Amino acid sequence: MTETVLDRPEAAAGSRTYEVRTFGCQMNVHDSERISGLLEEAGYAPAEEGTTPDLVVFNTCAVRENADNRLYGHLGQLKPVKEQHGMQIAVGGCLAQKDQNTVLERAPWVDVVFGTHNIGSLPTLLERSRHNAEASIEILEALETFPSTLPTKRESVHSGWVSISVGCNNTCTFCIVPSLRGKERDRRPGEILAEVQALVDDGAVEVTLLGQNVNTYGVEFGDRQAFAKLLRACGQIQGLERVRFTSPHPASFTDDVIDAMAETPNVMPQLHMPLQSGSDAILKAMRRSYRGRKFLGILDKVRERIPHSAVTTDIIVGFPGETEADFEDTMRVVEESRFASAYTFQYSPRPGTPAATMENQIPKAVVQERFERLIALQNRITAEENKKLVGTIQELLVTADAGAKGAETGRLSGRAPDNRLVHFSVPDGVETPRPGDFVTVPITQAGSYHLLSDPASAEEYRLRRSRAGDAWDRWQADSCGVGTTQVTGEKPGAVSLGMPTLRR
Ligand code: SF4
Repeated sequence: MTETVLDRPEAAAGSRTYEVRTFGCQMNVHDSERISGLLEEAGYAPAEEGTTPDLVVFNTCAVRENADNRLYGHLGQLKPVKEQHGMQIAVGGCLAQKDQNTVLERAPWVDVVFGTHNIGSLPTLLERSRHNAEASIEILEALETFPSTLPTKRESVHSGWVSISVGCNNTCTFCIVPSLRGKERDRRPGEILAEVQALVDDGAVEVTLLGQNVNTYGVEFGDRQAFAKLLRACGQIQGLERVRFTSPHPASFTDDVIDAMAETPNVMPQLHMPLQSGSDAILKAMRRSYRGRKFLGILDKVRERIPHSAVTTDIIVGFPGETEADFEDTMRVVEESRFASAYTFQYSPRPGTPAATMENQIPKAVVQERFERLIALQNRITAEENKKLVGTIQELLVTADAGAKGAETGRLSGRAPDNRLVHFSVPDGVETPRPGDFVTVPITQAGSYHLLSDPASAEEYRLRRSRAGDAWDRWQADSCGVGTTQVTGEKPGAVSLGMPTLRR
């Protein structure tokens, strides 16, 4: 796991500058957008690249075993910088929620510690700490304000995240989320739809609905079909071209959601659904109430109703007690599932979770060997599934990030409806798209993690300028031609939530 550094280059002279460093899952990335929004509303400006900010905020993750060592390592590196420049340091997110006072015990030069339930207090805590010249710590056990009602500084002009729920009512034995994020809290549909509409009015053409358990949405206000209804309601929003969601829990995946996905044209043919293990015994030990058969049954139904859908997943290898036979069950389910891609994790005990104290922890060498077999299998399936798309025509939403090789190859990048990453070239003599525009192109080659499109002529390339492209132009003009910082680094074609991802 690495971090996302969300630093903004358009700092206003004279104001305090900030930088947010984000660790962990998409929830945290979205929370960091809110932290940026709050800070800018409070008068802070993004630090220019290469300068020392007046404030560094760490938005932490508690999912990985060594997350705390890494955080304290980063804090240690900042200590001399702080002594020299007098900056403020704030630590928030899941690790802060978990460690609370320990953060100040281990790093007394930190100014503010805040939890996952009180992001909105950050500017006040910073002010209080500055005024009193002492550290300020505030951790709440329950949510005060639903995070989405806080000001947000979005990372992308064409796409936005909308939290529909926070917390989780499940008790998966490997997961720290329930104890750190609390019970599920659902926003009211009207509030969610108003936020989606506001994003669309602002130029977004794509929205991803977020929740730790997105498809149990409605449990708090007693409507079991609330998530399907929400998807259908998103289908009514003019100008909203792409709707995605992450992550659903297989145990709660109901047919009304599949129907809503299939019957709502702007809900994209894509599903990220964590498998975690293909072994029923391990799923039981993980306290995940579905079984391998049920998982495969959901995929069958999804593919029957949405034939071109791409499914991605999360898998943990080496959970305590996992036998070779259990692992082979996972390999079998993966083979049958035909995932477009998978986030694979080696199990490591996480303090505070029931699994951490289970007997039969699996030796590292065994976990590593299984992990490599799983990766080899999934890589083969990814390549085979990608190959099937060669020769198809895809409409891509053009993204701002052209990928690592963009400068070298001259290709731009976009996402297909099923969320696969496509690098494409623009034929001579035609207009180049802006981020947020759509292009329709043929897929000419399949790579391991992405697809390539090199249209043979202008006839094979169609550009559709969009409101999001116009918004990009306006954004460029407002920021004096400085491009956006796109959050990237995830494995192409996949989305993630709840488990850590690699980002910078
Ligand atoms: S893994 Fe997901 S479903 Fe399980 S407890 Fe954690 S957040 Fe909830």
